[in-house]
Amino acid sequence: MKVAILGAGISGTSLARMLAADGHDVTVLERSDRPGGLCRSRSKDGFVYDEAGGHILFSKRQDVLEWMKLRCGGDAGVVRRERHTRIRWHDRYVPYPFENGVGHLTRQANLECMEGYVEAYVQRRLGAPCPANFHDWVVWRMGEGFARHFMFPYNEKLWKRDLRTMASSWVAGRVPEAPMRDILQASIGVDTQGYTHQSVFYFPLRGGFETLVRGTVEGGGFRLHCGTAVERVERRGTRFAVNGEAFDLVVNTVPLPQIEAAFPEIPPEVRADIRALRPIGLVNVLFGVKLDAPLPDLSWVYLPFPEQGPANRVTFYSNYSPHNAPPGHGSFMAEVTTRGETVPTHEWARDLARRLGRAGILDDRALTTVDFNTVEYAYIDYTLDFDARIARVRDWWDRSGYVTFGRFGRYEYHNSDQCIARAMEVHAHVREIAQSGAPARPVLVP
Ligand SMILES: Cc1cc2nc3c(=O)[nH]c(=O)nc-3n(C[C@H](O)[C@H](O)[C@H](O)COP(=O)(O)OP(=O)(O)OC[C@H]3O[C@@H](n4cnc5c(N)ncnc54)[C@H](O)[C@@H]3O)c2cc1C
Repeated sequence: MKVAILGAGISGTSLARMLAADGHDVTVLERSDRPGGLCRSRSKDGFVYDEAGGHILFSKRQDVLEWMKLRCGGDAGVVRRERHTRIRWHDRYVPYPFENGVGHLTRQANLECMEGYVEAYVQRRLGAPCPANFHDWVVWRMGEGFARHFMFPYNEKLWKRDLRTMASSWVAGRVPEAPMRDILQASIGVDTQGYTHQSVFYFPLRGGFETLVRGTVEGGGFRLHCGTAVERVERRGTRFAVNGEAFDLVVNTVPLPQIEAAFPEIPPEVRADIRALRPIGLVNVLFGVKLDAPLPDLSWVYLPFPEQGPANRVTFYSNYSPHNAPPGHGSFMAEVTTRGETVPTHEWARDLARRLGRAGILDDRALTTVDFNTVEYAYIDYTLDFDARIARVRDWWDRSGYVTFGRFGRYEYHNSDQCIARAMEVHAHVREIAQSGAPARPVLVP
């Protein structure tokens, strides 16, 4: 089959590689000057950094993890790291997830968190229904104490929205419920670990996270046209035309609001739904520093409080690979989400560094390099009507004969490993079409 794939992020390139291996004739069209999308990295003064914030290689699925490692050059091309994440909680570092670190809080805060946790647990056992908005969900699930001491300030900083106006459905399955026993143990000072699927991760030895996409493109057996925005996609009988060229199948991975105008056949009500899908953007700032001693053995640190500055997370990026910073130097990346209100300048970035200095994260007097990048599509804006809206949008695409997937191609809160897992599903779907010769509805289960 002759297949057009729109967008050369990890979704588009991984699918292209899989289809080309089956002998299909695959063309990937990418608006930007190079592939990578949200997985791109760049260099400045010998420092490498990921343009869209801290990325790590991990997956719950072993086959997907192996696929990713292989693209990065196999075991020799990646570094294995233990995840050491903390929350900067006032004057101290608390292990993450916060529930598992509750014994590190002040005695008063520990008591408040546990009191709320037990109360919430009892209420759930008594049948309290799962709230539809995220604010109430936090209290329902974790209680007032955890809400006040971490969940509310952190999430308000990240999502930049009143949490009462945000849906709770996105957290289902994403935030695993810690067993009561683990939390009780944590409260009396016996450390327990949460999110164990991420406790070990990998990172490309050289080139930053983008190495994953570079390795997917190299030897991939497909055509990649960069600097080629997709402007028009039309149906021609049982075939399709993309920018005038004929294809048997079109797969989209471009953020839906950035591609809808290219599809004249999208009905007005679906188009209106797509246009209402707003993203949350991200400014990611690189701080390169001269080091007298190695950085603390941390992977990343969450910053929940406004007085710590606008960044919600700082990655200790030179800890990921020795090649991420020049010898004798270290690097950090600070992530600031934005709804368009943050226009970064060097002065703004230096102020951010000063605040991180005051929060005890980095020594801003040792700064040698500052750089930043803004991405428009970083997080999904989970408004209360999001589920209904996206269900209508996906339904149209899945009936249309086109396939759409990807973080914003389908609006799923997916990491790159889940994008690759989706590509594997689409790959299986295309095999089905190729064998039967008849179009079929894609099988992308929620
Ligand atoms: C802060 C942050 C942290 C993350 N951390 C991790 C992590 O630790 N590990 C992990 O695995 N994942 C992580 N992710 C998720 C990961 O970045 C995404 O899941 C993945 O990169 C999405 O890939 P994609 O191909 O679906 O979309 P994208 O990367 O957005 O690709 C879409 C492509 O479409 C192109 N495009 C746009 N318009 C057009 C047009 N008109 N014509 C042609 N092309 C067009 C764009 O230029 C882009 O290249 C993180 C994401 C963020 C924001």
